Amino acid sequence: MRYLVLSDIHANFTALEAALAAAHGRWERAACLGDVVGYGPDPNEVIDRVRTLQATIIRGNHDKAACGLADAEDFNPVARAAAQWTRAQLRAENLTFLQALPHGPIEADGLALIHGAFHDEDEYVFAPAQALDGLLESPSAVTFFGHTHFQGGFSFRDDKLEVIQLRPDGGTSFAALRVEPATRYLLNPGSIGQPRDGDPRAAFAIADLNHAVIEFWRVPYDIEAVQQRMKRAGLPEPLILRLAFGR
Ligand code: ZN
Repeated sequence: MRYLVLSDIHANFTALEAALAAAHGRWERAACLGDVVGYGPDPNEVIDRVRTLQATIIRGNHDKAACGLADAEDFNPVARAAAQWTRAQLRAENLTFLQALPHGPIEADGLALIHGAFHDEDEYVFAPAQALDGLLESPSAVTFFGHTHFQGGFSFRDDKLEVIQLRPDGGTSFAALRVEPATRYLLNPGSIGQPRDGDPRAAFAIADLNHAVIEFWRVPYDIEAVQQRMKRAGLPEPLILRLAFGR
């Protein structure tokens, strides 16, 4: 089973469409690790499109804030303003859709899905020490997480934890990771709609456990078109600018 793994789409329809076009014909099932909305200008369009994928979806912190399941008090002022704007845009059925999203961890065909950390969907996993819970306690050898918007992850084998930095450079579309036996993985496909790892291209992964390969993809998209829509919507300037830098 080839899985398309999407995360942190953040209401960026142009980036999502570019990713789906690049991945066309290369996957059978889809998973989404949360933060479908928040920050970006297209919350309804993105939810509508994601629903057509019939994906296994878990919620992220921005989904919770946008649909009223969590207040946005923990958010910085810029994120809070975007969450309030998003909430005002959502059509009733899309609000209901977000409210009904399950939290992780969820298992799908041998993959485990979480938004943040294994025990706390709102916690960030940046450092190896933060990855240990997920690596050791997840029900699956391969677990995907999001939330940080950094593509890459961690592996654990024979008491040895390693950082995986496997990002396709500017000239290539994907970098492949070989899944080794007796090894556990905690992997981040990167963010579709607001990458923060220095590469502004939309990020996602395609996992093929039958052939023990996971591809980490980067796809360019029309960033300026998204920035124009954000300006017209009156979304905060820092959110508009950062798309061009991928930071
Ligand atoms: Zn996010």
